[in-house]
Amino acid sequence: MRVVVLFLAYLLSMVLLVAAYGAETPPVPVPSPAAEDAAFAAFLHDFRATALADGITPETYDEATKDIARNPRIADLNLNQPEFAKPVWEYLDNAVSPQRVSDGRAILAGDADTLARLHAKYGVPPEILVSIWGNESDYGRSMGGYNMFEALATLAYSGPRTDYARPQLLAALHMMQRQNYVATAMTSSWAGAFGQTQFVPTTFLREAVDGDGDGKIDLWFDVADALASTANVLSNAGWKDGKPWGIEVALPPGFAYEDADLDNLKPVAAWKKLGLKTAAGGELSGDEAAAVYLPAGAMGPAFLVFPNFKAVLKYNNAASYALAVCLLADQLKGGPLVAAQWPRGLAPLSRDERVTLQNSLLQLGFEIGMADGLIGAKSRGALRAWQKAHALPADGFATEDLLTRIAMEAREKIASAVTPAGR
Ligand code: CA
Repeated sequence: MRVVVLFLAYLLSMVLLVAAYGAETPPVPVPSPAAEDAAFAAFLHDFRATALADGITPETYDEATKDIARNPRIADLNLNQPEFAKPVWEYLDNAVSPQRVSDGRAILAGDADTLARLHAKYGVPPEILVSIWGNESDYGRSMGGYNMFEALATLAYSGPRTDYARPQLLAALHMMQRQNYVATAMTSSWAGAFGQTQFVPTTFLREAVDGDGDGKIDLWFDVADALASTANVLSNAGWKDGKPWGIEVALPPGFAYEDADLDNLKPVAAWKKLGLKTAAGGELSGDEAAAVYLPAGAMGPAFLVFPNFKAVLKYNNAASYALAVCLLADQLKGGPLVAAQWPRGLAPLSRDERVTLQNSLLQLGFEIGMADGLIGAKSRGALRAWQKAHALPADGFATEDLLTRIAMEAREKIASAVTPAGR
């Protein structure tokens, strides 16, 4: 959860890292383990004052932190950017696997009463709640086994996520104090997300609810609490009961791919006028504002998404995550599979290749900020502009082919700039 916070913290840290350690700076000496342990202990000591000033009792703080240490594995995970971003179709293969679907259908039947009660109270349908549960923890099978205080303190102590982790550490202490949790029973992922539907502590404090009315909130072992809390988050995020999340569509020949952007909203009637049909070739219906989402660019499936898709994005701001939740929910209800083929032959770009692509765009004069290897809105915008100028579908989707062509153009531009005129 809360990928956007992590991502923004990561981006900021990369800016600071590059600012601090430019190419000419000598390597920073790595502290010895003993020095690192001492610095971590000093951090915990300093943070104690922050926590006490925020209403945490000395007993709570000392109990939560008494046996924790800086966790080297979490520190490594915190620093590593994956070499390859997983293609969306591989992510969906796992997120909407036949096992995930059959497990989820069994839960829909077995927990039907609880789910119907939550549907009536929060207006969020059973298949969406079960899908989020499946996507977040594989229905409770992988909730993360780290000590939450050790994980959050490691991230809060140093590295690219301190701005994220410090308020989360404070919120975890408040959780423990308010709910009388046993500190060592508070387990989480390495990033501090916990329980059946992987809340983070600040979201817990703001939106967790007691789903079964026993007077306690337990998102680890009480499924009714976890699903009710998830329903509450989605309801607050604007989920509209009875409305669809979106639909797979067929784009007309000559479709202007620069129109395919989650921020480019048009009424369904306007998309119909542009020639969009359902994937099965039928007429679109509905009166909501909608956006065209192309998870794998112009060569893959196309979806028309509605405000409920945006509500799922508020739960976790990654479009591939929201699509996985919505597609699994459709499968749980017995809906159709994705009709169009995924472009499985496209190889994902490595981090170095993404940096090369961005450097080439910079050399060609596109204002994309820093070449950080993360293809965000600015890089996609530059790719779209380049594609449009070359009469290509302007989907902004980075591929090996685009990299080759753009890098070649950048090299030619540099070569022509250094060759004296007239030769
Ligand atoms: Ca409860």
